Amino acid sequence: MMTADVSCQQCRRRVRNGASYTFRPRGGAAGIAKCLRCALRHWPMLRRSLIAGAVVGTALTALNQGDAILSGQLAGALAWKIPLTYCVPFLVATYGALSNSRN
Ligand SMILES: [Zn+2]
Repeated sequence: MMTADVSCQQCRRRVRNGASYTFRPRGGAAGIAKCLRCALRHWPMLRRSLIAGAVVGTALTALNQGDAILSGQLAGALAWKIPLTYCVPFLVATYGALSNSRN
């Protein structure tokens, strides 16, 4: 089924068919269509992704680097491994939210 192009309800930019993202607030209110640029700055989605990144990143860091952290022998490689461990679940959660909200 073909649908017409829509306008981003935040920046009013024209969005081609299939490239908009609709976020539905809780409580059954109507969804808000956004372009990719505005969708990436949609705070409720970012907040959920940050929570997922914090929870999953902490669990993965504890599992993978817990012995090194507890022994106090922090290798230089952990300076990039630990932040990356937090970034991966954040990016996965953000990608999943955008995939589910894409029109
Ligand atoms: Zn926009």
